[in-house]
Amino acid sequence: MAGEGHPLLRGGRRERKYSHGFSPAQIQALAAICETLIPSVSLDSINPKIPHDDPALHGFYSASGSQPPAPDEVAELLTKRAQRQVVVMVSIVLKMLSYRLGTLVLCWGSCLASTWPFILNFSEMPVESRERVLMNWSRQKFVVPLRVVFVMIKIYCLFVFYTRADENSSNPAWEAIGYQVDTREKPNESHNKQERPLQRGLVETVHETDSSLIQSLTKKGLEVTQIPQHNAFRIKCDVVIIGSGCGGGVAAAVLAHSGQKVVVLEKGNYFVPQDYSSLEGPSLDQLYESSALLSTVDGKIVVLAGSTVGGGSAVNWSACIRTPSHVLKEWSADRKIRLFGTPDYEYAMDAVCKKIGVTQKCKQEGFQNQILRKGSENLGLKVQAVARNSSEDHFCGSCCYGCRTGDKKGTDSTWLVDAVENGAVILTGCKAKKLILEDTQYGEKPKKCSGVIASSVLNKDITKELHIEAKVTIAACSAISTPPLLISSGLKNPNIGRNLHLHPCAFAWGYFPENPTGIQGKVYEGGIITSLHKVVSETGAPVPAIIETPSLGPGLFSALCPWTSGTNMKERMRKYSRTAHLFTLVRDKDSGEVREEGKIVYNISEFDKENMKIGLRQALRILIAAGAEEVGTHRSDGQRMKCKGTKEEDIEEFLNGVVISGGPTSKEELWNLYCCAHPMGSCRMGASERDGAVDESGESWEAKGLFVCDGSLMPTAIGVNPMITIESTAYCIATKIAESLSSKKDL
Ligand SMILES: Cc1cc2nc3c(=O)[nH]c(=O)nc-3n(C[C@H](O)[C@H](O)[C@H](O)COP(=O)(O)OP(=O)(O)OC[C@H]3O[C@@H](n4cnc5c(N)ncnc54)[C@H](O)[C@@H]3O)c2cc1C
Repeated sequence: MAGEGHPLLRGGRRERKYSHGFSPAQIQALAAICETLIPSVSLDSINPKIPHDDPALHGFYSASGSQPPAPDEVAELLTKRAQRQVVVMVSIVLKMLSYRLGTLVLCWGSCLASTWPFILNFSEMPVESRERVLMNWSRQKFVVPLRVVFVMIKIYCLFVFYTRADENSSNPAWEAIGYQVDTREKPNESHNKQERPLQRGLVETVHETDSSLIQSLTKKGLEVTQIPQHNAFRIKCDVVIIGSGCGGGVAAAVLAHSGQKVVVLEKGNYFVPQDYSSLEGPSLDQLYESSALLSTVDGKIVVLAGSTVGGGSAVNWSACIRTPSHVLKEWSADRKIRLFGTPDYEYAMDAVCKKIGVTQKCKQEGFQNQILRKGSENLGLKVQAVARNSSEDHFCGSCCYGCRTGDKKGTDSTWLVDAVENGAVILTGCKAKKLILEDTQYGEKPKKCSGVIASSVLNKDITKELHIEAKVTIAACSAISTPPLLISSGLKNPNIGRNLHLHPCAFAWGYFPENPTGIQGKVYEGGIITSLHKVVSETGAPVPAIIETPSLGPGLFSALCPWTSGTNMKERMRKYSRTAHLFTLVRDKDSGEVREEGKIVYNISEFDKENMKIGLRQALRILIAAGAEEVGTHRSDGQRMKCKGTKEEDIEEFLNGVVISGGPTSKEELWNLYCCAHPMGSCRMGASERDGAVDESGESWEAKGLFVCDGSLMPTAIGVNPMITIESTAYCIATKIAESLSSKKDL
């Protein structure tokens, strides 16, 4: 509904002035690229079956990516979110394309004309010639920067085009592609006027000033003093927790319940169901790390992570899978981390599932899950139901933009509510910058942690730093953010930042026109993950990979899909609402690293690629068996196959050609984009200092009083969705800390 939701999550333009810094000539060149990626297409030139009298389709096909303000919006997002070196590359290429000679260098013969001035600059070239140039850049394996520029502009341009929402929360393309934003009536609208669940413990730095902040913190029962020599406030508490997601939320509840004064720092904002708009663009921007446009440094894997109160649990796809018994055995027996073999851990899983309201059944499955189920069953493959932390009739595909009905139970509506009821204080918009570490002369560990230095990230009116001093400091910023914090604070254990597992995912798609298969619905409707297939090899041996279904709004869908021509992309998007995606998630044996903020280095090893390939081929088989008219992968050349009437041997030949290609910066002609949403292991627990960054109780081997309590603790990849494992591990660690603190043991 127009104007509904929090102002930050609504449509319409927020920025009055652009700050991208590109010149008008560069923007003109960028507009020419955007127009090539999303050209105005005449309906007569394509599929004759498209109804010519449909105004929505007419508008969609005639729209172009160059229409203002799209190019400026693309430039703005790119300069804000892409890696620095990529922005520099894009800037240089755009500058060159705005000159004739520069265009000649980058586009070769395609910019030559038969009349004066014989050489055209990029925006003067006909769209067809520009299209050939972009295809060339996409296949370019020698001058990789050109391919990188192509990929980045393609991603950002399509993302902006399909997510932009006007003041009425609408986008002209959505009707034509069959997409509708979730505008179901929110239950309990009367809650609007009631206190928000975390209000009692909340200090939102975005609404504070230096002087009001001190009052707000004092009112919450905290001792606050000035440190004039540091232009800072000193805040005292028992436990400070950095991050409010799966790990941090649970730790806050357990420790506050045990009587400790807890402070939670969260760099994101706090939103409640009444705030959520279900608009993909603003929701990804506000609720996700780097607006959901974070990737590994080589651009190959898009890394999704929540960044709001509740962290990943506020936006995730609600699959609740207990830690598999073979994983627990491996961790307790092979890795010698006894915790995972104890009844305490089993008890923690029960407590977690109870608290977040896990239900086992799903009353009605959505379009994609019906396809996964039907295809698997037609092939005689096992498919299992996935439990969720929502009610059994929660038919919602928009939980990834925050659950607007409040039915899904993230930490923001469960553990953190318990925490504030027991006196915890949650500081939002507040980013931890550095741990306070002192060298110890005689202690059993070389350092002692006595808190953390943080500052407001969303409000320039707060000029003071916050020095939060505590008996216990818990880093729960996620597996991609905890290691950079520890390393930049001076910790040296070589396991910090290493052993980063991602559960990389490869996508397969299948197009299911209305009617023939009898499968009802649209791709964005219904529970996001309600079914799962565990991949097995041809001989029936288990493969460390599973197949599930994703949530892809039009923005992410278009950004990830291969672009092979402007017309083809429009055709793909026209079929959006009936194009199902399945992904195969691999339990990665090998790993990458994250040592600096935003710099995730990760190569998919040959071993993991092999398992991914088996999973991807299986996903395609399932789509075919479910009755897809056409199937394909995300390989850059648009690898696809029409299924109707195709002989078994042709299908096998197609599947044999499906492999796991490198990313855009690889030297391979054909490349692929992958995704992940389960970073883990980058501060793993280890039986010794050599094996892990922290011990079995989550405490740093180097610094007393410093604990880790998030996905980075995992000794290896888990192989299934990790929320229950992370929350259960956090529960055990926090319980032990609480016991030590209350027995006044020297921590
Ligand atoms: C789109 C998506 C779908 C998913 N679906 C599922 C699913 O269906 N089932 C499942 O089991 N798992 C799922 N996951 C994974 C799961 O949500 C994560 O594994 C889990 O949230 C990780 O927990 P965590 O405690 O490690 O960190 P997070 O939950 O990511 O929380 C970390 C928090 O710390 C904050 N933070 C980071 N740095 C700082 C700092 N310096 N100062 C202050 N705050 C900071 C972040 O803003 C964030 O809010 C999904 C994840 C995503 C993103």
